[in-house]
Order: sequence, then structure tokens, then C-alpha cells
Amino acid sequence: MPTPYAYFQGKIVPLSEAKIGVMTHAFNYGTAVFEGIRGNWNEEDQTVYLFRMREHFERLQQSAKILMLQMHDSVDRLCEIAVELVERSGFTEDVYLRPMVYLSSEQLGVRLHNLESDTLIFLTPFPAYLPEVARCHTSTWRRVQDTGIPPRAKVTGIYVNSALAKTEANANGFDEAIMLNENGHVSEGSGENIFIVRNGRLITPTPADNVLEGITAKSVIELARNELGIELVEREIDRTELYIADEVFMTGTAAHLTPVVEIDRRLIGDGRPGPITQKLSQLYYDCIRGKNEKYRAWCTPARIR
Ligand code: PMP
Repeated sequence: MPTPYAYFQGKIVPLSEAKIGVMTHAFNYGTAVFEGIRGNWNEEDQTVYLFRMREHFERLQQSAKILMLQMHDSVDRLCEIAVELVERSGFTEDVYLRPMVYLSSEQLGVRLHNLESDTLIFLTPFPAYLPEVARCHTSTWRRVQDTGIPPRAKVTGIYVNSALAKTEANANGFDEAIMLNENGHVSEGSGENIFIVRNGRLITPTPADNVLEGITAKSVIELARNELGIELVEREIDRTELYIADEVFMTGTAAHLTPVVEIDRRLIGDGRPGPITQKLSQLYYDCIRGKNEKYRAWCTPARIR
């Protein structure tokens, strides 16, 4: 029987033993940064492939730096621990790892300084996050900006902004929200980056549009350039440009590459995933399960015995 393990307070323990107290600073004030890493099950190889794990731990380091949180483990060490967690837990399905650096002192007072931090990692089975194709709406909630809580850092507290948008979208009958920034330009989904295709060109908002610099997005951009000869254009996108785009899709560790077929009750293209989205999707899904030799370096194997 698979049993989930966690890395907590410097030790690998069963997940059921990884508990924090109610006075923990991060629980009270959202003072933590985190990551999501996919482990993709490959039945043939009896292996879970961790997708671009190093990049995720490097982004965790950057997020911690922005919040001035101390990280006690190196990226190399965290990579080793992650593989060990997946192998020990023994799941033969897709899993999701959640690394977090959090202020662990059981002490009140709003600040980031003079407090202890801990790094934890837990994992859980994690199937598809969005439907095969998504119907979206434009959120009434604006994306947080660098002058408030920096969206470039994956801060737990920021996700209240995302949760407000996601719940509003679901309550209105949509699968996902598209958030605009304070300037009214397209920013991203509640947990995904967004791309449009117009006249054969791939377009995505710039990092200055208040997006998380996505690792799935970076991978898809590389695939588009190397395999399809399509260069990326980074620029501001208006809400109405989404409506007339030929294709729209979202990318994220949880969401993978999800075609968007409807926005604000307007069909995108003919309401089905377009040709570029389909080609990128095929390439992406092969890569994440270690089935594309050329991109094998993106995958770290964890063998399940
Ligand atoms: N934007 C937000 C707000 C997210 O939470 C995520 C998921 N981490 C992404 C974009 C996509 O980033 P990545 O592809 O690195 O998972």
C-alpha cells in the first residue's frame, strides 16, 4: 500500500506526523513561499518522472529571497529528498509535490525578521486539475501587483487573490478565471499562465504584467521554438484580443497545457482546440512522462519498486 511521506523539520516522516501548531507564524500571516512539482507516472518504465524539479527549487529559492526567508537546504539536497519521498511513498500514479519555506516560529507579530524558518515537502496523488478543455471568464478580481504582494514570488498569502477569482468563476459556471492586472491588461489564470495564437504567432503577457514566471510556460515556449519553429512574442494583451484570438491555452504545473475554448461566452476560434495548441500539447505530454528522448533532461526519475 502506498503511504505518503513528508520532509518536515529536517526529517523524512509519514505525512500523518507532519503537523504544525496553531500559533505558527505562516499560518497566521501567510508568510511562506511554496512550489508545486509534478511527478508524472510512466507505466511502462514503472517510474515517476519529476518534471523540471531543479527549476522549481531554484524558483523556491528566489521566492524565499524576495521574502528574506532563510532556506537551510541546498537545491541539490532538496532534489535528493524529493526523489526519496516519491520512492518511499510508492504511488503508481501521478503525484504532486508541495515544497514550502515557511516562518515556523510560534510567535505573533506581523513582520518577516527575527523569526525561524523551516522547509517542508509533502506529496499527494494528483490527477487532472482542469477539464480537458476549459471555459473561462474574465474575473472581476484584479491580479495583485509587484507594488503590493509580488506575484513573481510564489507566496502562500497571494493565493487568496487567486482563490477569490477561482470561486467567482466556478460560482458563475466557468472552469477557470482569467485575471486582468491593474492596467486592465490580461495577466494570468488563478494558477496558470495564458497564451494566445494570432496569425500563427504565439503571444503571452510580459513578466511586468504581474504573472508568475511559469516553468510550464518556459517549457512550452522552448517546444514551440525548437519543434514548430514558432517564436514567442511577449507583449500586453487586451481582454477583447482574447475573444478574437485563433487559439488560447493555459499552462501550469497543475493544469498542464489546457486548451481554452470559450471566454466570456464567446467561442475561441471554432470552439475546439486549434492546431498549434494540439501540436504543443502532444509534445508537452510526451516530454513530461519521459517519452521524448530529446527532452529527457527535463525529467528526474524516481523508480517505484
Ligand atoms: N501562475 C500562477 C498564479 C500559478 O500559481 C502557477 C502555478 N504554479 C502558474 C502561473 C504556472 O507556473 P508553473 O508552470 O511554473 O507551474
